Amino acid sequence: MNIGAHLSTKDGFAKLPENARALGLRTYQFFSKNQMQWKARPLDKEEAAAHVKAANDAGITDEAIHASYLLNLGSPEEDKYKKSYEAFVDELRRAEQLGVLNLIFHPGAHMGSGEENALKRISEAMNAAIEDTRGSKVRLVVENTAGQGSMVGYSIDHLSYLAGKVTNKDRIGFCIDSCHAYQAGYDLSNQLDSFLSEFDSKVGIKFIKAFHLNDSKYPFNRHLDRHENLGRGTLSHDFYVNLFSDSRLAKVPAFLETPEGEEGYPKDIKFLKSLGIKL
Ligand SMILES: [Zn+2]
Ligand SMILES: [Zn+2]
Repeated sequence: MNIGAHLSTKDGFAKLPENARALGLRTYQFFSKNQMQWKARPLDKEEAAAHVKAANDAGITDEAIHASYLLNLGSPEEDKYKKSYEAFVDELRRAEQLGVLNLIFHPGAHMGSGEENALKRISEAMNAAIEDTRGSKVRLVVENTAGQGSMVGYSIDHLSYLAGKVTNKDRIGFCIDSCHAYQAGYDLSNQLDSFLSEFDSKVGIKFIKAFHLNDSKYPFNRHLDRHENLGRGTLSHDFYVNLFSDSRLAKVPAFLETPEGEEGYPKDIKFLKSLGIKL
């Protein structure tokens, strides 16, 4: 896998490839706007172009943008749904401008309206957003969830439903968060292979465009979304060895989203290397 991490944009978008390299990372994920706010200023054209050039010069093509946490494309409330949809399309356009092919987003929550309802609304929003950004190559990359609250997207069946409903398969992808999958009842500690086989038969491995590589603070299957630094949580060490030796995932970026961010990533990298994993 291509090791990466979620990076801060405090030095500007164009510095991301250099900052990633300084941390020993091959790729990176970032927010293109404040993730806790609905509105964002339009991107500065020169700044966006500078990122495109910097990523090209560094030979990085698998970087990702993480969409705002506020979005809920599964919301039963018309207002919230519309606001989410508009912000989502804006995120896709920003990704396009920044030259980033993968927009990772949490599918959404049903808020009492039922999982089926939410999944249907999410798939409709995805098809509409693809239509509204026709010509773009940016992929809508759905992240699996821990199943906390009324979030959907915690099971492979949910992801399979979305993959099936989206008409333009070139524009869809999935991001597997190891902490979320473990919390949702997939025992990656002991059965990574059966998780990947089930994903392959119901969705297709080639649709995995990213991993979020996080350890889990809490024990198995509690639906609690709390990340931990690698090797310090409840996932087995075998999990990491198996993940990095799986040839089907050799070209997939693995983004760290562990506590302490940039301060903590060196610990995570050191841990992976201590297991004999070549990064
Ligand atoms: Zn994640
Ligand atoms: Zn999480």
